[in-house]
Amino acid sequence: MSQWLKAALAGTLVAGVCLGAAAWSGARELTGRREELQRDARVVARLVSTRIQGGLEKHMTAMRQMANFYVSSRKVGEKQFLTYAANTLKMSPACLNIAYVDRSLRILRSYPPDADRWSMVFDARTHQPGYETLVRANRALRPMLSPPMRLFGGTWGFVLVEPVVANGRLLGTLVGACRGQEYFDSMVLPEVTERYEQVLLDSGTGIFASDVGGSSDLSVPAVSESFDFGGADWEVRIKPQDHVVHARLAAGRTLFWAMACLFSLAFGALASAATLWAIGMSARLQSQGAALVEVRTRLDGAKEQLLHAERMSALGELVAGVAHEINNPLAGIVGYTQLLMKRRFSAPVQKKLETIAAEGGRMAKIVRNLLTFARKHASEKSLTDLNSVVRSTLEIKAYHLRANQIKVVEELDPGLPATLLDFHQMQQVLLNLLNNAEQAMLEARHGHTIRLTTRIVGDRIQMRVADDGPGIPPEIRERVLEPFFTTKKEGHGTGLGLSLCNGIVQEHGGRLSVESPPGEGATFIIDLPIRQEAVEADEAAKPFPAPAIDPLKVLVIDDETSMQDFLVDLLELGGHAVDTASDVPEAVAKIAAGDHDLIITDLKMPGGTGRDVYAAVLESRPHLARRIVFTTGQIAGDEMVDFLKMTGNELVLKPCNIDEMESAIARAARN
Ligand code: ADP
Repeated sequence: MSQWLKAALAGTLVAGVCLGAAAWSGARELTGRREELQRDARVVARLVSTRIQGGLEKHMTAMRQMANFYVSSRKVGEKQFLTYAANTLKMSPACLNIAYVDRSLRILRSYPPDADRWSMVFDARTHQPGYETLVRANRALRPMLSPPMRLFGGTWGFVLVEPVVANGRLLGTLVGACRGQEYFDSMVLPEVTERYEQVLLDSGTGIFASDVGGSSDLSVPAVSESFDFGGADWEVRIKPQDHVVHARLAAGRTLFWAMACLFSLAFGALASAATLWAIGMSARLQSQGAALVEVRTRLDGAKEQLLHAERMSALGELVAGVAHEINNPLAGIVGYTQLLMKRRFSAPVQKKLETIAAEGGRMAKIVRNLLTFARKHASEKSLTDLNSVVRSTLEIKAYHLRANQIKVVEELDPGLPATLLDFHQMQQVLLNLLNNAEQAMLEARHGHTIRLTTRIVGDRIQMRVADDGPGIPPEIRERVLEPFFTTKKEGHGTGLGLSLCNGIVQEHGGRLSVESPPGEGATFIIDLPIRQEAVEADEAAKPFPAPAIDPLKVLVIDDETSMQDFLVDLLELGGHAVDTASDVPEAVAKIAAGDHDLIITDLKMPGGTGRDVYAAVLESRPHLARRIVFTTGQIAGDEMVDFLKMTGNELVLKPCNIDEMESAIARAARN
């Protein structure tokens, strides 16, 4: 959802809520005003009913006075009746007429005087309600009002019956007829009529209704007030007129809604703006959070690399130290075994010697690998075509791979430029990768192709070794380059292969990485820079077979007794005379005093180094300077390589085989 849509939704929601609140409060206000109106109407209803009651009371009183006059006067003549009736009617102007009826219901007198007396008041035959009221009042001996009835002449009204009773005896009855509408018109107040609709019911029948009509949506229900009078139930119904209701309920509503809409719009707009601001802010916070996470990840990565590098460096130191300590005794074991093998022994002894030599050789190889892993050496790089490394390695592995029915597909870029490589180290890397792929495929019985690709990527050379074997699960992919990490059974893997490869590739300024998408085997990628600086060809390094030499007087300098003894035996066997020294001071003294033809010295000893021996030779026997063969149990570091290059002398790595040593002695003797 876009931020604009969100802001619009928030704005609409808030505006809607504001309008809802306004509607709710408007409704409450309206209800309050209605209740107020009804309270007012109730008061008016009471007022109207009191007035009507008062009016009827007054009329009744006038009739009672007339009845009393009848009772007090022995005889009421026509004239007296007319005078009294006229006075009575004056008090009740809505009264049409008054009649005096005797006990046999004959009309004896009537006012205004009329020929047809019956018809003046009501026709007992046709005006049943009036007749009945008359009979009931005479029976009860008390005044009564008739229910609404049509009076003679057609108008609606009622009759008031007042029995004339003397000493509990009925003398006759006074009957007054009143026109309802006029009667009540005279009682209502104009200001009430202006504001309220009024209806008067007598015994449920409408007897009077104010002359207004119309209704509206705003109308409120009528309020009624009942009272009992003259044996009849009266009810006054009052209802505020529409214009009153309208004035009360609708007043200010337009302004109210206009303000409500305005406020709703304002709050809606505010909510939209706030939402936009909040979205912007949250996006900014999110991006800052992401940036922080990225920085943190990078820092973690850097820390991890640092720790790894530290670990590796410590491990390298340890491995180099251990390898050095092993190399010296191993040199004695290997050397003596080779010396013994030169003699004739019985076949079983010979076989055992061969086993010792082979195992010693294996140990020497492991130690050398460890030292390479620890990168305590200077590699011998020359401009080399990587494709030639691939081809020569495949030649070594071809038979093996074919025997295991593994096909190798070569996709080698013929235009690959030569770069500075240590041929043998690169071969070792490739062999390791091929061996791993082969072992993984055979063990999992999965896959049968290894694809070898070389190509140029940008300004670098890339070599890919891809197999279609089982692949490497993601959870261990990160760890396969770690030293000693292996998934192979004990005795089958050391876990050093890939870390060794990694070390060699890094030493070449390159990078080793691994890819293994699920179900697609494993691909190891070597990425190398193209380096073509000139390198000096080290002619002296090239081995050649040892020629026979004349007997010499050789000084052997080594602190390791086994190595010293082995060299003494080897040289004596070759017919040379041997002198020995076990540390540098002894050696320096012997060089100064002696007449040696050749010196074999260890590079690292107590009390000094091979350099000190070389310095002593330069000083006292400079002609021997090129006739020194250096030996070392460590793989030469860069500093040592520089020193050797400077002297141009031989270096033999311990443990060495006899041929190597003899060749080195022969080459030195030629100098
Ligand atoms: P090792 O071969 O002695 O186990 P490595 O360092 O050469 O040591 O290899 C480490 C681990 O990497 C192996 O044990 C294996 O689990 C995994 N691995 C290496 N190459 C492959 C491959 N081509 N396919 C599958 N797994 C491999």
